[in-house]
Amino acid sequence: MKPRKEPFISKDSRKIIKKELDNLTNPVSILIFTSEDVNKSFNEFSIKLFTELARMSDKILPEFENLGGELSKIYDITHSPTILIQPDKYHIRLTGAPAGEEFRALLVTLIMASSGVTVLSDASRKRLADLKDKRNIKVFVSPSCPYCPQQAVMAIATAIEKAGFVTTEIIDIYENKDLAAKYNAFSVPQIFIDDRLVGLGLQPEEVFVEEVITATPVKTRPVESSAEKKEIDLLIIGAGPAGLTAAIYAERSGLESVVAEKSNIGGQVAITPIVENYPGFTRIGGKTLMDMMAQQAIQYADIHEGEEVLEILKTEDVFEIKTSRRKYAAKAVLLTTGAESKKLGIPGEKEFQGRGISYCAACDGYFFKDGKKVIVVGGGNTAAAEALYLKNIGVDVTIVHRKDTLRAEMFLQQGLKNNNIPILWNSEVKEIPGDKLVTGVVLENTIDKSQKTIQVDGVFIAIGYTPNNELAKNLGLETDEEGYIKVDPAQRTNIKGIYAAGDITGGIKQIVTAVSQGAVAAMTIFEDISNPYWKKKRA
Ligand SMILES: Cc1cc2nc3c(=O)[nH]c(=O)nc-3n(C[C@H](O)[C@H](O)[C@H](O)COP(=O)(O)OP(=O)(O)OC[C@H]3O[C@@H](n4cnc5c(N)ncnc54)[C@H](O)[C@@H]3O)c2cc1C
Repeated sequence: MKPRKEPFISKDSRKIIKKELDNLTNPVSILIFTSEDVNKSFNEFSIKLFTELARMSDKILPEFENLGGELSKIYDITHSPTILIQPDKYHIRLTGAPAGEEFRALLVTLIMASSGVTVLSDASRKRLADLKDKRNIKVFVSPSCPYCPQQAVMAIATAIEKAGFVTTEIIDIYENKDLAAKYNAFSVPQIFIDDRLVGLGLQPEEVFVEEVITATPVKTRPVESSAEKKEIDLLIIGAGPAGLTAAIYAERSGLESVVAEKSNIGGQVAITPIVENYPGFTRIGGKTLMDMMAQQAIQYADIHEGEEVLEILKTEDVFEIKTSRRKYAAKAVLLTTGAESKKLGIPGEKEFQGRGISYCAACDGYFFKDGKKVIVVGGGNTAAAEALYLKNIGVDVTIVHRKDTLRAEMFLQQGLKNNNIPILWNSEVKEIPGDKLVTGVVLENTIDKSQKTIQVDGVFIAIGYTPNNELAKNLGLETDEEGYIKVDPAQRTNIKGIYAAGDITGGIKQIVTAVSQGAVAAMTIFEDISNPYWKKKRA
């Protein structure tokens, strides 16, 4: 029997893509340059993809060209595949196939290029009107990076808004190792403006626009005092599983709620390759799970991606909140700000972050996939899961752990054994030396204190978490000795009107606990706003 040939785009995906392409208003011309010498599978992918898209919409007009041909010389094309979107109008260049996560960015790009209307806010567009100089933006991405599409779309939107001034190039680091090496870009997204590194990681929109204007790195800008103020019942800070669940429960109870998320919807789960312990799903990609949660939450609450909460002030009746975009007056605030990866705090760690050091295997593992040698530092669930993910995509991975047993679940430990992932026991990383990139690690034996240097291309650090508790500290919330917010069983903190849920409260840091606490918090907030417990006590 002949093996059944899978369609290039599945029936379900085709339906979704077709619906998006139906939004195209004007034709979009696309030039696809390929060569037979390099990146064969990615060239084939690009040709098939644009052929299929053109079949789905008569507004997609692809032309396939050879690298080295006349047109490639005119456009100065040097890498294969390279894709130019609407080259007669804009300077938008995709150096690398728009595969994996990057396909999301491509769809938005096609819609923006077709209409000339971008996703940038009015404030960003107004600010960009001040740009009078030419700018070249380069964004380094990879197909498995959940943060990259949003950054790529912002950069492409800028090229559309400022056509004639801004040229944007989205570069896949795996298919273009020479460019990644030239710019030392080994973590994604990484943003260069006029060949100067301005940002590691996803930038908030207002920060990115400022970086484009100034061509320098910029810190978050505080909101202007004249910014409009929105009055709401509840502000939820963070769109991880706790925040999204709280939003569903709060809105369904009748509370007008906004979720402000400084980065991407999905929190830490969005960077988790595979989740195997969330009931109802035997095995699901973290990003997919969070996309499903977000789709449900968006039906109820306003969720603002890229909006960072900067300050919370308590007044007599409400909380005055400043974010990177606007002000709110809210009757209650729920902190679901989660936690972030702990740093090792050793020489080399800061210098080589993004140059071989990473805290996210799903984002950065791809680059090391052709048998490059990396270590994962840590002994818990995250370290084990990250090591398994890296091994699965073809990375030569070793775990380095300072003890002689792992804390990871037995299931994951068995996975490490089955996959023959070596573990260096009783070993502590003392230094990460490198040149432009990481070249090795200095390990100390925790028993006899002897030191040795081993050569590695990458270091993935998974040694636990620290709570995102800046806002909590500024408010004077009670925390435990590790900085996690103390809450009662109804998720109330020591300050009336302020609640916390999920990883920021410590304890068992898992998706199931985060969602359950998010639901409890929302129900408590509804109760307290309808019938304030502090007034009940006084009566
Ligand atoms: C690599 C990895 C693998 C994991 N695997 C699993 C697993 O298999 N199963 C499982 O159950 N759990 C797993 N976890 C743990 C799980 O991801 C967390 O328990 C869960 O994400 C906690 O949800 P949360 O909503 O409390 O916080 P988070 O998911 O951390 O979300 C907090 C959000 O708040 C935002 N934020 C912070 N400060 C601000 C601010 N000032 N303004 C606006 N937004 C802000 C952050 O950007 C973030 O998006 C894993 C974690 C990691 C890192």
